[in-house]
Amino acid sequence: MYNFMCTAEENAIKLKAREFAKTIPRDLLIEMDKDEIQYPTEFVKQLAANKLIGLRFEKEFGGQEMTWVAEMAALEEIGILSLALGCLASLPSICGEALHTFGTEEQKQKFLAPILAGEKFCAEALTEPRGGSDFYGATTTAVKDGDHYILNGQKRFVVGAEGADIFLVYAKTDPKAEHRHKSISLFIVERDSGVEAKYIYGLMGCRGGGAGRLYFRDVKVPKENIILGEGEGGRIFNQMMYPERMTSACGIIGMAKGCIDIASRYAMKRIAFGKPIRKFEAVSFKLADALCLTDAARSLVYTAAKALDTNQDPALCRRLVSEAKRVSTENCYKAIDNCLQVLGGIGYTNVFPVERMFRDARLASIWTGTSEIMNLIIQHEHFQQYRKKAPDYRDIEGDAAECEAEDEKIYE
Ligand SMILES: Cc1cc2nc3c(=O)[nH]c(=O)nc-3n(C[C@H](O)[C@H](O)[C@H](O)COP(=O)(O)OP(=O)(O)OC[C@H]3O[C@@H](n4cnc5c(N)ncnc54)[C@H](O)[C@@H]3O)c2cc1C
Repeated sequence: MYNFMCTAEENAIKLKAREFAKTIPRDLLIEMDKDEIQYPTEFVKQLAANKLIGLRFEKEFGGQEMTWVAEMAALEEIGILSLALGCLASLPSICGEALHTFGTEEQKQKFLAPILAGEKFCAEALTEPRGGSDFYGATTTAVKDGDHYILNGQKRFVVGAEGADIFLVYAKTDPKAEHRHKSISLFIVERDSGVEAKYIYGLMGCRGGGAGRLYFRDVKVPKENIILGEGEGGRIFNQMMYPERMTSACGIIGMAKGCIDIASRYAMKRIAFGKPIRKFEAVSFKLADALCLTDAARSLVYTAAKALDTNQDPALCRRLVSEAKRVSTENCYKAIDNCLQVLGGIGYTNVFPVERMFRDARLASIWTGTSEIMNLIIQHEHFQQYRKKAPDYRDIEGDAAECEAEDEKIYE
């Protein structure tokens, strides 16, 4: 975020995150990318020690009661490291949203506070082998049995499958519910209650976040660990999607920014046909495009953050957050691709980190809701809103010379 978009407090946390990112050893990034580190617990602990996670939450639980803009400003700075580290910095915000907004006092003390203190690591288990986009199509079940729920099923691609202590798991409590959105509930499941993590994927990028498959085989979860109650999973999901999508939208801006710096320096120094390649419009315009794409992403993320900070109509928030997620992840991926092109062949090697960022960035428009799912939400909220209330600005349909030719306006 640019300084002029932020208050003094927001700029201060942004600077703190910027300085923090400089302290992270490059070996960590490289070893994660080589799959030599599966889950960097120390990194999350350091984030917590520096009070850089859970910024929006109440101080009582270790938060800082800051704005969405502050959180996004900080995350852009941390996102410059890699997609996986940006994600690990985001998970306390994503899981924390469910606990903070809907959890009981006891759940907040027992789970949210240690997560924000960096003592426990959290993960979100939503996607199943049979699909991630169709949230209500989940097949993992939770059956009440006295003081417990018994969970059975599988989740896949869970960041922190390797490494996390606490999983927020969506499971069906009423698979035959008349209304699908009342069929699912959210549970806090501790790893040591019998969760098995089986398989760490060979990922194209975003390595080192411990992404794997989880198995629940008769896992006993105390009934106090349900969040908000049976059938409330859908409501919580809608709320959790704000930080989930906002953090995806924002972290990647940091990566694009870093790649633009590398490509700009390269274009000023690299000589071809007797002059620096930046003198060729074909090269410098690629950077101009990358800057436009990244600034457009930043502007939309900031707008969505402001909508959340000022408690705008939830339908508008959902639309703006989905637009920010789609536009930012697609734009920043394109911006990073442009930077790689500016570097020519050397950009395709690990001499520069742009190829790593490129592999990382490809994921961003897939996870936390694909671009196609973002479009579903955007158009849905648009038409819902449109049907409810016609625009109160000038209706330009009458501004055509032949606008009264009603017999030419054929709709069926
Ligand atoms: C490295 C990695 C980390 C991840 N981390 C997590 C995590 O921590 N926790 C977690 O729960 N999940 C996680 N995910 C899962 C991720 O969110 C899902 O992969 C994603 O939501 C898509 O689900 P899917 O892969 O099952 O694809 P599907 O849902 O099967 O979709 C396949 C394709 O069909 C399209 N499609 C599906 N339905 C529609 C529709 N109605 N209209 C138009 N197009 C549609 C999709 O857009 C997509 O292009 C992670 C994934 C990866 C790869």
